[in-house]
Amino acid sequence: MDYQALANLLYPDVTETQEQIEARFPGRNAPEGAVITRMAPSPTGFVHLGNLVQGLTSERMAHQTGGVLFLRVEDTDAKREVPGAVEVLINTLKHYGISFDEGATVDGDSGNYGPYRQRQRASIYHVFAKKLVAEGHAYPCFCTEQELSDMRTQQEANKETTGYYGKYAIWRDRSLEDVKAALDAGMSWVLRFRSTGSIENQFKFDDLVKGKLTITENNVDHVLLKSDGIPTYHFAHAVDDHLMHTTHVVRGDEWLPSLPFHIQLFQTLGFKLPKYVHIGPLMKMDGTSKRKLSKRKDPELALTFYKAEGFPVEAVYEYLMTLLNSNYEDWRRANPTASANDFKFSPKKLNPAGNLFDYAKLTDVSKNEIAKMDAEKAYTLLTEWAKEFDPDFGEKLSADRDFAVSILAIGRGGKKPRKDLATWKEAKAYMGFFYDEYWQMPEFDPKFAPETVKTVLEKFVQCYDYADDAAQWFEKVKVITEEIGFTTDMKAYKADPEAFAGTVADVSTFIRQAVTGKTNSPDLYTVMQILGYDRSIARIRKVMENI
Ligand code: GLU
Repeated sequence: MDYQALANLLYPDVTETQEQIEARFPGRNAPEGAVITRMAPSPTGFVHLGNLVQGLTSERMAHQTGGVLFLRVEDTDAKREVPGAVEVLINTLKHYGISFDEGATVDGDSGNYGPYRQRQRASIYHVFAKKLVAEGHAYPCFCTEQELSDMRTQQEANKETTGYYGKYAIWRDRSLEDVKAALDAGMSWVLRFRSTGSIENQFKFDDLVKGKLTITENNVDHVLLKSDGIPTYHFAHAVDDHLMHTTHVVRGDEWLPSLPFHIQLFQTLGFKLPKYVHIGPLMKMDGTSKRKLSKRKDPELALTFYKAEGFPVEAVYEYLMTLLNSNYEDWRRANPTASANDFKFSPKKLNPAGNLFDYAKLTDVSKNEIAKMDAEKAYTLLTEWAKEFDPDFGEKLSADRDFAVSILAIGRGGKKPRKDLATWKEAKAYMGFFYDEYWQMPEFDPKFAPETVKTVLEKFVQCYDYADDAAQWFEKVKVITEEIGFTTDMKAYKADPEAFAGTVADVSTFIRQAVTGKTNSPDLYTVMQILGYDRSIARIRKVMENI
């Protein structure tokens, strides 16, 4: 077979050579050891935690080595493309602190290795395709869908591996005349790789996450270019990562079965093989067994979930670092205020089998992160969240900034800050009572006579002085306690509860409930200082009227 004639027949318009293309994508002037990596998502519009794990891993690997992280959009499957998906992806990752140095952007491309959208690179792939044909490494296949599906049925019936290989590769050795005739007949065709691999042969391969792997050679003549001339993932991966000088490919381990073909493709094309970082899936406990997080069953897979729940970005980021690198937590304890970027991230620490996502742990990490923030920052983030997800609350927070900040300042700072909130969504239940519209008429414990509660409240209204300090305030509560025949001696009460009608804690609860509508709240003295005299007393009076 005259392969050059076949190449000219299939690609008459391709005149550029591999060398000319390569000259347009010169090597990068990166420092020694710099990691050049990319995210290469398909624009499906769904951004999930797995994307973030991949993004974080590649971002850290690139930026801690002085390398480059770029974004390439794998839009070869036009059917799956969702309009606006690239924008969603870029913005979501940016929200989590992952920015690209080059690649596809919301307004086009930025960088010297574009286009960064694969459908725009068709003519580039064709140069490499023509070369492969000319060298006898690729050939056109005119099989119809029906033929391929019959082939599969037959292979299944024979209990053979399915696929286009060996005697099933029926266009592999067809003559130039056959090809000409098929082209003249207007039959649609794909370009296939001519594999010389054998499943009898194995070799060793080192993956940065999976470790040493034993790989069986690929013997299947996979498709390189589809009938519309657009490449498959495999071919685009090889050509793009070669031209864009990718040193490390960070991707999900669902690609591991294709790795033998990728290695073969890089070798055949004469490309230097990048290093591979195959990330295992995110798992969760389901009862007593582990399973992969699923798009259908687990809302927590979608990144929009964390935003809507109001997990601060810092919390999700911090949690993922602890999840991906087991030594991160110790490092963080030793470096509580350092930037996460000072930590030496290693892909080798990722669990090869996939990492177990633990929602309770995320919640704990988030409580710490929110507790560490100063009131101003908590205010800014909470308000931002509320404006989007609870606009009424958002309006209240914005209407009186100082008031909201002073609420959020309660218990903040110091060695042991309060850990009331794991998410911004929890904030309304925690502090909503400060706003009259969210305050609710309390229900008192029926074991106390309503008259007793009313008497306490009356006495309190009479003696409350806004200028009192916390100690004076509490002295007054104690006096009321004695006056109504309750005890201030908690020890004695605990020893013999039956001997007392109630305690100073009960009296405090009456006042707390009247002021806040709830049985628990942050320090009541402070709450009343923030609410102010008028508002506190008005609430107590309203409750008294209702008793
Ligand atoms: N488009 C592929 C995916 O979304 C990219 C895999 C890769 O990073 O190479 O899975």
